[in-house]
Amino acid sequence: MTSIVILGAGYAGMATAMSLAGRTRRRSDVRVTLVNGSDRFTERLRLHQIASGQELADLRIPTLLAGTGVDLVRGWVTGIDVHAKKIRVDDERVLPYDTLVYALGATADTGAVPGAGELAYTLDSAHDAATLARALPDLRTVAVCGSGLTGVEAAAELAERHPHLRVTLLGRQEPGARLTPKARSYLDAALARLGVQVRAGVEIEKVTPGGVEVADGATTEADAVLWTGGVRVSPLAAAAGLRVDAHGRIVTDAALRSVSHPSVYAVGDAAAVRQGYGTMHGTCQGGMPTGAHAAASIARELAGAAPKPFRFGYLHLPLSLGREDAVVQFTHPDDSPKRLYLTGKRAVWYKETVSSSPWPSFRRLFTSPAVGMLGWRRGGRYTR
Ligand SMILES: Cc1cc2nc3c(=O)[nH]c(=O)nc-3n(C[C@H](O)[C@H](O)[C@H](O)COP(=O)(O)OP(=O)(O)OC[C@H]3O[C@@H](n4cnc5c(N)ncnc54)[C@H](O)[C@@H]3O)c2cc1C
Repeated sequence: MTSIVILGAGYAGMATAMSLAGRTRRRSDVRVTLVNGSDRFTERLRLHQIASGQELADLRIPTLLAGTGVDLVRGWVTGIDVHAKKIRVDDERVLPYDTLVYALGATADTGAVPGAGELAYTLDSAHDAATLARALPDLRTVAVCGSGLTGVEAAAELAERHPHLRVTLLGRQEPGARLTPKARSYLDAALARLGVQVRAGVEIEKVTPGGVEVADGATTEADAVLWTGGVRVSPLAAAAGLRVDAHGRIVTDAALRSVSHPSVYAVGDAAAVRQGYGTMHGTCQGGMPTGAHAAASIARELAGAAPKPFRFGYLHLPLSLGREDAVVQFTHPDDSPKRLYLTGKRAVWYKETVSSSPWPSFRRLFTSPAVGMLGWRRGGRYTR
């Protein structure tokens, strides 16, 4: 019996599990186990919606796994022994593996400045997002720290849903810095219409009980702070002795195996995956293909064949601006912007289609694993 253990049932881990189950369903000598902290699937793409008080569909992982043969172990991974090939769950249970898939994702880097870890809210889990939502009715001001895509989506969602709130978005970069100038102007106008105050080009130094302090000594007063400034990964991989990059992500070879421990695959936000244009950054857009590719590679290895190199090119950068507006920037495979972008209702429809597609895609990856991979861009000359 070959035991394949997948750590993390987010976008990348679910894609791996479902695709692997589909590819090995005729084999009685392969056991696939998925370990996750919760049996509810976290739609990370929508956590800003929960933070603003919206209810999401109750997506249960066991429902999706029914009939696939994948065992779900509900618990927190607390250790990995790459020499003995064993996983520790909740400090007490031990799971042996032959092949490991590491898909533990990333969370907000609240260690970036003093005070963020103790005082700021995050969008790390549905629970964390809901904690902010519960506090909102009693607040007058919220500072969203981090002007990247997550910060922009969160600020817009909070401002639209809670017009009584004064929402300030702070960060180093201009909101939508990776968009074309025209798409960025649209974004700026949308944030202004929603009443979001933008303080870009600032270096956040500290989160305090009264708000946020920035490098020039100025303070933004806020009843609550939401931290979206950068991401960090679990220290488990580095602690296990797997080779990691400066951000703690597992460094992979072209087939997505750890360069130091080839029996470990790494996918999604927790992996440092090199492509011709550079190292991929964490997205669901790229995370699901890494998961499906790892599954295909493991199936090839089980059949005695060598895994193929992974190739991925970006397609778009979809950004919600509340529920009534959005902007979608189409991109070249290296994530640089094309001229084409969508705004308004068409962009809202596009973004919603993207956000709701993973759950049915997981099922397709089980029923027809090869077809399920067709929608993803390989990147053409950018990744050759
Ligand atoms: C508000 C927001 C909006 C976003 N919008 C977009 C978007 O529009 N498009 C896009 O492409 N990307 C978007 N992203 C990024 C995207 O969500 C991530 O890149 C994606 O979730 C990465 O998938 P993953 O499977 O690697 O990690 P995750 O989806 O985070 O899954 C990791 C899983 O592992 C579990 N886990 C972690 N540690 C442990 C442990 N020790 N033990 C057990 N289980 C554990 C977690 O609970 C989780 O279930 C957004 C992110 C946020 C926060």
